Amino acid sequence: MTMKTFDQKLWQDRAWKLYQQALSRVEGKKGKKFSINDRMPAGIAWKRDTIAIKAMSTVLAWCKTRNVRVMFCDIPNGEYANNLILISIKARAARQFNYLLHEIGHHLIDSSRANKIKKFPLGYAKSNDTRACKTFGHRIDVVGEELEAWYRGGRLASKLKVSFDRKFFDDDRINAMRTYFKWCLRTHGYGKESI
Ligand SMILES: [Zn+2]
Repeated sequence: MTMKTFDQKLWQDRAWKLYQQALSRVEGKKGKKFSINDRMPAGIAWKRDTIAIKAMSTVLAWCKTRNVRVMFCDIPNGEYANNLILISIKARAARQFNYLLHEIGHHLIDSSRANKIKKFPLGYAKSNDTRACKTFGHRIDVVGEELEAWYRGGRLASKLKVSFDRKFFDDDRINAMRTYFKWCLRTHGYGKESI
């Protein structure tokens, strides 16, 4: 699997390219009726990406001080284990930033292992115990940790005073938690797979 490190210039070029592509898609559909208002959604997404790219470089500098490595590769969303954060390379910058904050939240929870086990005793700590994994208590503690990881990531961004689209962050947080809640309650179609 190819892994990339963050490169501000490359990310900005990519965001610009996505903006241009979005514009030509709308223009292709609208033809002569293409107006300034049709540029709006693509423009908003591009602006959100550029703000996120700037914020990302600040947050990545913070990661360095904590010895947390961050790599971008072909995975969905993000992952965290042993001071290594992986983020989807295909996601656009604003979404990468949200997932980066969330995975940092997992790092912050993990860095106080005793506290983590005290708070979420039946959750990820029991992931290797097949019997424990089948219990509702396990799923509740996983959900608890996921909620906390989002909360801590958002709090770090405020602490570092980076500007970012908080509404967009909350949308990603809510969507991710919706999946976890469905899994937790074994809503139809969920619960058989492991998270
Ligand atoms: Zn998570």
